[in-house]
Amino acid sequence: MPNTRTDAPEAPFSAATFNAQVAELRATGRFPGSRWCPSPNFGPRPENAAISLLVVHNISLPPGQFGGSYIEDFFCNRLERQAHPYFELIADLQVSAHALVRRDGSVVQFVNCFDRAWHAGRSCFGGQEECNDYSVGIELEGADDIPYSEAQYQMLAHLTALTMAAWPTVNPERITGHSDIAPGRKTDPGPAFQWAHFRKLLKTTESG
Ligand SMILES: [Zn+2]
Repeated sequence: MPNTRTDAPEAPFSAATFNAQVAELRATGRFPGSRWCPSPNFGPRPENAAISLLVVHNISLPPGQFGGSYIEDFFCNRLERQAHPYFELIADLQVSAHALVRRDGSVVQFVNCFDRAWHAGRSCFGGQEECNDYSVGIELEGADDIPYSEAQYQMLAHLTALTMAAWPTVNPERITGHSDIAPGRKTDPGPAFQWAHFRKLLKTTESG
């Protein structure tokens, strides 16, 4: 439905564009407009595992620093371990996410949505374990205690709306944070992430 409320923020994309993007995502598993940076860290989703959850994460490398190519290097198993002391600890991990939203709102995609990315680890949502099997994982370039950029909220809301429209089993009740599906083990997206703001933006998108 086109947004007709005059007091709401203008939707960043027209209804026709949005619908075309949903069709593209559903057909290709790729977020339209994203930069493709394929990670080797993925596998097939189990049979019968429909996409039915969206998980919000954060990552920054080195922690708390933004910009550069370290996140992409990390997800592609080519992080230079000598570049920072922290990298020594993580360089051998094999992880990924479907997409990363950088501070300026641009999107990098690492794993096709039809495939199983390695973002959640040991996890459980609503009694269902192994969230990687049935979720789309989106990373925000950020840290738990540093405010996210408005461009990131806008783009995350857009990607989430596309995902919900492409796979309607993903609904507002099935959008969660990494800390919620791996409590005690993970803290992202952290207290800096304004869920109310994100959910409000989501309602003003074409699918809302
Ligand atoms: Zn995470």
